[in-house]
Amino acid sequence: MRIVQIRKSRLLRVVAGVLLLVPLIYLLFTHEGESSSEPKVEGSHFESLRSKIRKLPKLVSELGNFEPKKPIVRTGPGEAGKAHILREDQQNDAAQSLSEYGMNMACSDEISLDRTIPDTRLPECKHWEYPEDLPRTSVIIVFHNEGWSTLMRTVHSVINRTPPQFLEEVLLVDDFSSKEDLKGKLEDYITRFKGKVRLIRNKEREGLIRTRSLGAKEARGEVILFLDAHCEVNTNWLPPLLAPIYRDRTIMTVPVIDGIDHKSFEYRPVYQDGHHYRGIFEWGMLYKENEVPAKEANRRKHNSEPYKSPTHAGGLFAIDRKFFLSLGAYDPGLLVWGGENFELSFKIWQCGGSIEWVPCSRVGHVYRGFMPYNFGKLAQRKKGPLITINYKRVIETWFDDKFKEYFYTREPLARFLDTGDISEQLALKKKLKCRSFQWYMDNVAYDVFDKFPELPKNIHWGELRNLASSTCMDTLGHGPPSLMGMSPCHGYGNNQLLRLNAKGQLGVGERCIEADSQGIKLVFCRLGTVDGPWQYDETTHTLFHRVHKKCVALHPQTTHLSLMPCDVVNTYHQWTFKELQPRWQ
Ligand code: UDP
Ligand code: MN
Repeated sequence: MRIVQIRKSRLLRVVAGVLLLVPLIYLLFTHEGESSSEPKVEGSHFESLRSKIRKLPKLVSELGNFEPKKPIVRTGPGEAGKAHILREDQQNDAAQSLSEYGMNMACSDEISLDRTIPDTRLPECKHWEYPEDLPRTSVIIVFHNEGWSTLMRTVHSVINRTPPQFLEEVLLVDDFSSKEDLKGKLEDYITRFKGKVRLIRNKEREGLIRTRSLGAKEARGEVILFLDAHCEVNTNWLPPLLAPIYRDRTIMTVPVIDGIDHKSFEYRPVYQDGHHYRGIFEWGMLYKENEVPAKEANRRKHNSEPYKSPTHAGGLFAIDRKFFLSLGAYDPGLLVWGGENFELSFKIWQCGGSIEWVPCSRVGHVYRGFMPYNFGKLAQRKKGPLITINYKRVIETWFDDKFKEYFYTREPLARFLDTGDISEQLALKKKLKCRSFQWYMDNVAYDVFDKFPELPKNIHWGELRNLASSTCMDTLGHGPPSLMGMSPCHGYGNNQLLRLNAKGQLGVGERCIEADSQGIKLVFCRLGTVDGPWQYDETTHTLFHRVHKKCVALHPQTTHLSLMPCDVVNTYHQWTFKELQPRWQ
């Protein structure tokens, strides 16, 4: 990379004036950083949003045009993104705030709202020069009962680290918070930003998905950029997110997310240095990440350049406001939280846009220990698990039939859920002439199959009841690796919902069941495989392990499971599968 840089700037000096070479140099410069062979939809609905000739970012040997001239040095708690450890006599407050907010607000409250954090970017990122006329941006922060200091640190970091000419406003959208300090005090506080920070409030709880769509409608910037209410943006974070959008209004850009520890507020990168990841999913619609495939990584000249990604984690991204609204914003039928990242990703890609992750833009996010809020009235209005209903709405709209089956194989109870009316979503898909899911899988999300191959059908699914004890095999709520146990059959719920597929894999949720000398275990499924050792015999009701050549047995009078030499007339070796009923019917 450095070689390219030096060669170009010297070239310029040495051959300046040699007219014959001028067109060549022009070409070299205008094509710096441009990606080739885009999986774009020709003649798509949004063709006019792609500008023809635009200045592109270029790599220079000096410091990039929006880089801070000298680093800011400060001392104090949590400065330089260091962990801040509270005293013993503060531990009660720490524990109390941790359970109220899912993060240690007692710790956050002691850290400056203007604290410094380490620059986690690749060194190359300091040397990009971006166009000077990038679009103006509304940074939208939606919040529901968030802690004051984390919310305000998000705002301060944006104000401190964003070139003002690109910041139209910071738009705070209160999703009907009930905490006192988020009321009048907030209006007073933001007056110091002299109109740059605007606050609007929902009249009732809308959930994060609808609140973001409302924020987008209300925003005044050409570009909208969403942040969670507990973020800290890093050095020169905005221009690299805007540059791709400036080139092509149908590109959504995503910063690389760093972690802020929810107990100590230590700021640290999540990914190994220089390694790039991108967003994918498994067939139960859980969000996953995968190292960028060589095919995509190699399309770029420099490792600090943006790369294409099938999807994103959800909270943090930038998009042209008109483009977002012309895609119908988020599906208004999605409730509160979950699945909206997939909905937006599928619709962007399938309808002619694209998603790029931007390594030179880093934003820290506090990953909480647990979700501190409930879904309020919104959850009661819908029966059944709300997040799975969201997933079903998304897959019923955007998946082709073949792929829908993978989802129902992985989440058998989802077949019984009511998604509500999706006719408007289907009409939009038609109006925008969106591509099939098969196209998306072939051209964009091709690496999903490497990790999560096509799912064979379930031969049996439901509870697995032992004939002797009449109790059921159960994960007991433990994560892998752990021993499977037994408990009274509930007839519902995820801990007892097992699936045996046509290739002998026994699954529970996204996990698998295997066996060794210690017993029957819940384990991580081997990535990229969907087969397993299990064989169920319909006549003897035994569950046979083909490798160890033994059967699953319950030890009499205990809840301990292990592999034993098969005894087909012993009821402790006999099991029946029974499909579960959805609990909400
Ligand atoms: N949020 C909201 N309304 C809700 C739930 C969440 O406005 O009903 C906000 C929340 O305050 C946060 C953002 O939406 O700023 C994302 O939520 P969260 O951080 O809980 O999601 P996670 O990061 O855990 O995915
Ligand atoms: Mn969050």
